[in-house]
Amino acid sequence: MKPADVVSFYRRLQEQEPHPKTELKYVNPYTLVVAVALSAQATDTSVNKATAPLFKIVDTPQKMLDLGEAGLKEFIKTIGLFNTKAKNVMAAGRILIDEHGGEVPRDREALERLPGVGRKTANVVLNVAFGEPTIAVDTHIFRVGNRTGLAPGKTPYDVEMKLERVTPPEFKQHAHHWLILHGRYICIARQPQCYRCIVSDLCAYKDKTPPPGSVLEKKKSKSLPKSAGAPQQPRVKIKAKTKPKAKKK
Ligand code: SF4
Repeated sequence: MKPADVVSFYRRLQEQEPHPKTELKYVNPYTLVVAVALSAQATDTSVNKATAPLFKIVDTPQKMLDLGEAGLKEFIKTIGLFNTKAKNVMAAGRILIDEHGGEVPRDREALERLPGVGRKTANVVLNVAFGEPTIAVDTHIFRVGNRTGLAPGKTPYDVEMKLERVTPPEFKQHAHHWLILHGRYICIARQPQCYRCIVSDLCAYKDKTPPPGSVLEKKKSKSLPKSAGAPQQPRVKIKAKTKPKAKKK
């Protein structure tokens, strides 16, 4: 994408949402770390539902250790991978108390040393809790970066580095949220809603989705195989419940 188009791209997203915020609920940097760690492979809504009662009684690493792993599991058992996540939250709480006086460090390396905290989580915490212009690349941003031509890359790290290079400083603070919201609600994975996308003319994606019910859309859906656009199903071997009957002689 040309630099002038990059500016237009961000400017339009900015005009639409001047003050974007994370959809995860938290009350301080520590609860943000916990919420982001719990959100891996889970929706923000499911995390918020679990953390709403949790954060009323636990908002420091010490209170988390006092609650204990079994107590934490009771709150987060509706979230995927909750056993592993509970273990990580406990271990991270112990490190925060032992090495950082119970505070969340404003330091990428220190954050990434916490169990359950990877580069993406560290970037979110640095950006949201400390106001640093980091760009965390999740599945939505990875997709938007590649589809649009804004920041193509084979891995989330590639896309992050590209975004770091092409994003003008004035947009860096909120780039992460603008791109996430765009990917979550417009440039969605299964079928991007190009017909109502405000950056459509700047986007390099070739197979843009036409408006529903339009002649183009009808032509397109006819030319597609029946399975196109459907979510991919995991390949599961289904065992036959009964043995096939023996052939009559
Ligand atoms: S035009 Fe389509 S593919 Fe491009 S950013 Fe918009 S929704 Fe995504």
